[in-house]
Amino acid sequence: MKYITLGVSQVPAIGLGTYKLQGAVAIDVIRKAIAIGYRHIDTAQLYENEKEVGEAIQTSGVPRDEIFLTTKIWPSNLHEDRFMRSLEESLRKLRTDHVDLLLIHWPHQQLLIEDYMPRLMMAQQAGLAKEIGVSNFNISQLKTALKTGAGVVTNQVEFHPWINQTKLHGWMQEHQLPLTAYCPLGQGRFMTDQKLIEIAAIYLRSPAQIILRWLMQKENILAIPKSVNTHRLIENINVFDFDLSAEEMQMIDAWRLENQRVVGTQAGARWD
Ligand code: NDP
Repeated sequence: MKYITLGVSQVPAIGLGTYKLQGAVAIDVIRKAIAIGYRHIDTAQLYENEKEVGEAIQTSGVPRDEIFLTTKIWPSNLHEDRFMRSLEESLRKLRTDHVDLLLIHWPHQQLLIEDYMPRLMMAQQAGLAKEIGVSNFNISQLKTALKTGAGVVTNQVEFHPWINQTKLHGWMQEHQLPLTAYCPLGQGRFMTDQKLIEIAAIYLRSPAQIILRWLMQKENILAIPKSVNTHRLIENINVFDFDLSAEEMQMIDAWRLENQRVVGTQAGARWD
């Protein structure tokens, strides 16, 4: 496993995504993932599975402090009177007294970044979040967030070979801000891409492993693929025993020109 420094934490570069995992399946998949070796788990208030994540971790047999746990505050909870209450509820469901990383899930459409970033800092100062960060922020929003003095350690955004994140990624690199790639597998949409299948055949690896290897060979990138299948969970974390050539890396880099976004710019969600 490769580790990325986020603040004072050393974080496994591959974590487990949990979007759309709920109920008994979620508990089973998360427990299996931990048994396989996952030590970084990503959830969010939106996913309505914090309870399952908490139960799976607590009954996994692995101590809580060996798992890097992320959750995200949904925009409607960024209001002053809701922020802390919602975080406390998340912690209760997650059966823990702190998360390792607390993110703003999406920038709010009306509230100012300058207004809600201090709430994230307060949560950190109170020991409820070891690290803090943002998600779905563009460069200008990141600049505003950093100006508030918040110790943002990552920006979690959609990133895979078919999306053009050159500007954002370049800016984050310049500012030594690690990028967490969500939908690293493009939600499975590109697995039949012929160019990808050809590279996978060279290494006798799956298409998913080639994508994750491409991400891992870049600097300061974390990825949080999700799967309900045990063999895919194993596959997705086993990408550290082969290297793509510089030519292959460049070839995959070029696919970004197709620029296909899997998640809508505001996730189609409404909030107030
Ligand atoms: P992913 O890119 O992780 O793709 C998941 C899909 O790929 C599933 O359909 C899965 O199918 C399939 N898959 C997984 N592994 C393999 C494999 N080895 N071979 C073939 N297919 C595979 O999509 P997600 O949307 O789940 O994104 C990952 C995580 O990122 C989320 O779970 C969530 O935690 C986070 N996220 C954050 C967002 C944000 O706004 N901050 C937005 C969206 C996601 P199956 O399960 O059947 O194996």
